[in-house]
Amino acid sequence: MNIIYHPEFLNSNYSQDPAAEKGRILSILEELKKEDSFNFIEPETARRKDLNLIHPPEYIDKIYRRNKLLYQIAALAAGASLKAAEMAWKGESSFALIRPPGHHASPSSSWGFCFFNNMGIAIENLFKKNKINSAFILDFDLHIGDGNINSLKSNSQVSIFNPKARNRKKYLKEVKDTFKDAGEHDILGVSAGFDEHIKDWGGKLTTEDYKDLGILCRDFSDRKCKGRVFALLEGGYNHQVLGQNVRAFLKGLQKDNT
Ligand SMILES: [Zn+2]
Repeated sequence: MNIIYHPEFLNSNYSQDPAAEKGRILSILEELKKEDSFNFIEPETARRKDLNLIHPPEYIDKIYRRNKLLYQIAALAAGASLKAAEMAWKGESSFALIRPPGHHASPSSSWGFCFFNNMGIAIENLFKKNKINSAFILDFDLHIGDGNINSLKSNSQVSIFNPKARNRKKYLKEVKDTFKDAGEHDILGVSAGFDEHIKDWGGKLTTEDYKDLGILCRDFSDRKCKGRVFALLEGGYNHQVLGQNVRAFLKGLQKDNT
């Protein structure tokens, strides 16, 4: 499992919101460092033409003018997402340990602590290079990824699924059934938010459930997505449990997850 990470993601001065909070990324990093099989890789900053895969120049300029540090870190998060998707395409499962998140960033507007649509940029880059002809996106964050939907709605070869069930058992079954009914795709992208945890804002899923979500994603990827899967960090705000939840999900997602 590749972890695409840059120390600049520890910088909490780019914004004042719960995703930018001090200690948040560190709480995940400390847990992931305990795994010998996780391979840390530094990303490069996304270029303007990469951001332009989803966002028009005026919007990119607006973010740049608003706050240069924010632009720099958000472009680095997009760059890490590009790398995670590229490595997954080569058959190496990858997780981008990033902030700011992206699934509430639409082409010309954003909210919810997001600025650039990391998932959209990563997926459209693979389409542009003719590496894929279809993609499936699972978004298991507490909040519906309106930015992913708005950024990718013009691409009919992308299917996006946000599970809705209110009860944890039904939630996992909903994901399982959706994967069972889904057709074949060239890659699976996961918008991985951890704010549905019982001790986070959503108050629903257990840490073990995140491992099960990882196992379901691994299985779906192996059976119907050519074994290609990558995940991008979205929400998750309780630093006491966030690292354990990310680690549990990635353990499930690993090839040898038993
Ligand atoms: Zn969320």
